[in-house]
Amino acid sequence: MRVFKKSDDYVRLIAGEMLNKETSTQYWNLGKLVEVPIKGYPQLTIGNVINTFRVSCGHVFIPSSMDRQAFETRLMDTILSMEAEMAIQPLTGAHSKDTQWHTNIKIKSSLKQTAGKKEKFASYNVKRRFGKQIGYYEHARFYWSIVNINDIDYEITSNNISSSISQFVGGILYDADDITIHEHNESTFNFGRESLKGFKNIVDANIVIGDFGNPLMIELSENWQNRITDRFRNPIRNIDENNLFHADFATLKFRPVDMANNVETSTEVCSKCRSVLWGDFYAFHRFKKLPVFNDTLYVAMCPLCVHTSTNAIENEYYEVYRTTHPRDVNLMIEYADESDIKKDLYREVLKAYVDTGKGYMLIGDKYASFTKTDDYLYTSMVNDPTLQGRLICESKLVHV
Ligand SMILES: [Zn+2]
Repeated sequence: MRVFKKSDDYVRLIAGEMLNKETSTQYWNLGKLVEVPIKGYPQLTIGNVINTFRVSCGHVFIPSSMDRQAFETRLMDTILSMEAEMAIQPLTGAHSKDTQWHTNIKIKSSLKQTAGKKEKFASYNVKRRFGKQIGYYEHARFYWSIVNINDIDYEITSNNISSSISQFVGGILYDADDITIHEHNESTFNFGRESLKGFKNIVDANIVIGDFGNPLMIELSENWQNRITDRFRNPIRNIDENNLFHADFATLKFRPVDMANNVETSTEVCSKCRSVLWGDFYAFHRFKKLPVFNDTLYVAMCPLCVHTSTNAIENEYYEVYRTTHPRDVNLMIEYADESDIKKDLYREVLKAYVDTGKGYMLIGDKYASFTKTDDYLYTSMVNDPTLQGRLICESKLVHV
């Protein structure tokens, strides 16, 4: 993989490197013809063995902010004018059509067309084709896949050998946002996730923060934590504070809630979603539809179930209380079945979280979060001074 940093003549630098790879000879360096071309390119020396590669496909990785089609058009013009400056014409000799045990069938074509993505099926016999995905090798003598930097596939398996060679041997990366640790014009055979500057800051944790009440309310609810997309349909609504009273938790006796198979019951869970009760929650008493005035048991319900109910469930009772469970948020975090890093993240959320409006949130003193960590890893965000020294996670902010 050849890496170029931001440069005014980046199209020329990339086109020159493409011509080098197409010819397996280094004719161009930084957009200028070299005096003595070096055959066998790219070259990898392991010990005292020099390995050379002749590839027939390559990837050009560009920042996602770049207009791909405009780039392809400029690239095509530039590569055609640059090859006109060369003493030889690339991709016009005989090339392998099929290879078996002892035979290598080579063919030679007089067609010399360069085709872009638009002319996908204009001709099957072109010398050079630009496209987006792998799979059209057979339609060109050299296939260039022009894709976004975040489309790099780091996994090398027996199924994607061709694509891996195309990416990491035939690859050219335009690092305009300075997101990699590699230098300008550096050629590397060790491009991996570690090549991304921000990779070491990424933590494997994502968090849902509620922009109302306790920010961890959703995360710490067994029922709500992973169901925001399909269950959080109803917006949060306020309830009538005039009929709301405070009650001391110790004085309330709760109605047991049926748990698994109606065999187990619990007084420690929300009667609707069955998540463990903690912090502030609601206690309802004297169901209006039943004339049971001597019933001393209270119905417990978590804030999320009450504030998202559309039928105003609190109006079905004569008495509505807000009470506080002695199990507080810190105790919930301590006993949560989560990784240490996620628990640490929870504690930082409780300190502070700020939506910067610039695509990321600052969480406590240690973390920052993006909807997708790719928005950090593959963009100039990785160099944002505000984010230096912070660990990066994924988050979703749920508004009222
Ligand atoms: Zn609930």
